[in-house]
Amino acid sequence: MPDHHKLGRELGLFGTDPLIGAGLPYWLPDGALLRHTLEEYIRGLERRAGYQHVYSPVLGKRELYEISGHWRHYQQDMFPPMRLGDEEVVLRPSLCPHHAVIFRSRGHSYRELPVRLAELGGMYRSELSGVLGGLTRVRAIQLNDAHIFCALDQVGEEVTAALVMIQRVYQDLGIEPASYRLSLPASGNPAGGKYVAAPEMWHRAAAFLTDVLDAAGLDYAASDGEAAFYGPKIDVQVADHAGRETTLSTIQVDLYQPAQFGLAYTGPDGARHQPVMVHRSVLGSIERAVAYLIERHGGAFPPWLAPTQLLVLPIAQPDQDAAAQLAALADDAGLRVRVAGPDRGSLAARVRADRLVPYQAVIGEAERAADAVALRLRDGRRLAPQPVGEALGRIKHLIEQRGVGLWEKPILAESIPAESILAEFGGAQRGGHG
Ligand SMILES: [Zn+2]
Repeated sequence: MPDHHKLGRELGLFGTDPLIGAGLPYWLPDGALLRHTLEEYIRGLERRAGYQHVYSPVLGKRELYEISGHWRHYQQDMFPPMRLGDEEVVLRPSLCPHHAVIFRSRGHSYRELPVRLAELGGMYRSELSGVLGGLTRVRAIQLNDAHIFCALDQVGEEVTAALVMIQRVYQDLGIEPASYRLSLPASGNPAGGKYVAAPEMWHRAAAFLTDVLDAAGLDYAASDGEAAFYGPKIDVQVADHAGRETTLSTIQVDLYQPAQFGLAYTGPDGARHQPVMVHRSVLGSIERAVAYLIERHGGAFPPWLAPTQLLVLPIAQPDQDAAAQLAALADDAGLRVRVAGPDRGSLAARVRADRLVPYQAVIGEAERAADAVALRLRDGRRLAPQPVGEALGRIKHLIEQRGVGLWEKPILAESIPAESILAEFGGAQRGGHG
């Protein structure tokens, strides 16, 4: 696995500048396209799973974090407060308090539960050693976050559903979890330290998670000292290029913040009951997820995620009009398409320059005459010429299916000339993602 800093720069995905600051990357157009696609994908999945999306500000008053417990247990990771008249405002270290307040802003009946509030929102961490050049240790984080407010007897089902969503997303992204971890507080934690002191609460919350892990038949290792300050969590670990494990997805059961914020719903008995808050993040921080995806795929992203999905290659000047027409059709079909014309160099050079684009369509005299297109796949396969509509329809279908496959039923050309550009193309071939 290559290092994501280097590839991210080569592929024009993101950058950093000392003037903006360490741990504060910016996203270049292709990186922004990738990120937008990832964000829209996860929003769509969440909508279909019954989540409702909200927006909340990246700042909050200091009192908000005093109530949530962040001020007491998490302050070393927070930016110092900003004084504004008589108030102090803080760059938020998490989205939970805002969502708790949003839930509290109106009354809820047990019939509405679970209420699943989701947001892809900004949060900030005062990494003292923010690294310049990377996406893994950043001070400004975009989090794929959600909080599920539910009754006690709904917790198991919600945690299970979150696990299923995580597995589905990993399949679509071509990711394999390295391990599952049950993160618990450090044993013998003194009151007022890194964790909220309430042994009975921790015990109950951890039981929800172990029940789900056991029922799912997943192997997991319990890890002391890795819990959130307010509750235990399931961490889904992935391994980076050096084999180091990092957490991508988390599911947390929280009995603490609902009490702190006085959250309530009206039960079937007409009385007020306290909901449980299940915190869940599928992609985790978008920065870390993209860093991982860059390394995992070596820049050869699954077709649905690739910044450019189809590259149109007119062989010579007379093929330019046909190439532009094909690109317009692909664009109408919703594909991200670019044309690389003969002014950009030889066909071989153009293929090489964009070797990570999943589909390349070569347009020459023969293709023009037949209203056909000869597709090359990123993994080196060359397909026999086929009608334009058929080829675009197939690509569109594959992209809608997600996953990492390039072409389910390969239609290979009978013979590939050894001296063809494929020889060079083959040098960039990557295994395991066709
Ligand atoms: Zn949360």
